[in-house]
Amino acid sequence: MTFNCRSLLSIEELSRDDIELVLETAWRMKEVGQREVKKVPTLRGRTVVNLFFEPSTRTRTSFEIAAKRLSADLVNFSASGSSLSKRESILDTAKTLDAMDPDLVVVRHQVAGVPKRIADVLAAPVINAGDGAHEHPTQALLDLMTVREEKGEIAGLTVAIIGDIAHSRVARSNIHAFSKLGASVRVVGPATLVPPDIERLGGAAAGAVKVFHSLREGIEGADVLMALRIQRERFAGALLPSVREYAATFGLDRARLRFAQDDAIVMHPGPVNRGVELAHELTDHRPSVILDQVRNGVALRMAVLYLLSGRSSLPAPPEAQSE
Ligand code: ASP
Repeated sequence: MTFNCRSLLSIEELSRDDIELVLETAWRMKEVGQREVKKVPTLRGRTVVNLFFEPSTRTRTSFEIAAKRLSADLVNFSASGSSLSKRESILDTAKTLDAMDPDLVVVRHQVAGVPKRIADVLAAPVINAGDGAHEHPTQALLDLMTVREEKGEIAGLTVAIIGDIAHSRVARSNIHAFSKLGASVRVVGPATLVPPDIERLGGAAAGAVKVFHSLREGIEGADVLMALRIQRERFAGALLPSVREYAATFGLDRARLRFAQDDAIVMHPGPVNRGVELAHELTDHRPSVILDQVRNGVALRMAVLYLLSGRSSLPAPPEAQSE
């Protein structure tokens, strides 16, 4: 199998085979992270640039650890210390970086579409690490990886994505990802935070996405409950009466879990507003798999860096590669 994308900009553009290849590669990479010496020479001599125009804790760190485990050199570029604060345009910044010949560039930006515009001018492949409310493809891939680890198969599962759908790139990427692999996706939230045309996402599997404005109905019988953060930085004005009321209507706690399947798991891309999307006891304990998501994120990003660096097939067994 070969990976057919030059850059990773969205889940929407990936085929089912592309997704399977990334997941398969990520399993192999996960083994590297379980060794005492967590490093393989696969990307030695390659340079990865992290270009983050928006705050990030886990995604930026996770790409950094992933690049280092593959022995790449990693440069962190943050907008505040750069010429962007001297008003250089994003595309001029990208061209300047391009002249330094990076091998892979990871981009996060608050405006949808910026990673694509940067990819259009760069020679190196670009990985979208989150663009506005558009997509966050590596988050959805690590979510698929975590659900497959827990449940075995994705096809046939019911996945409820709960909360601020309107402003969430994680929701969009996951709607595409889970429906491409054959799950039924439910979108659950207050009407003000669910965009009217959301059911049309999910492409080929039209009809796979259903909207619910009642938490109880939305999670009834679901296998996976994915809570999303209220993205207050992305909306001005009153889309919600109050955070307290949101928590009372759409927050998950143990009592509400009884409406879902007995073995349902709880996910959250982080950062969690404790006591809002998730009660404390759910944030820290099973059936929450939040830290497994973070752990899988490193292996998944190793896989993406590996596949986009021009290695188009699965890596040799990691034993053969270790230094
Ligand atoms: N970390 C995720 C993102 O960057 C989710 C969030 O911020 O709520 O989209």
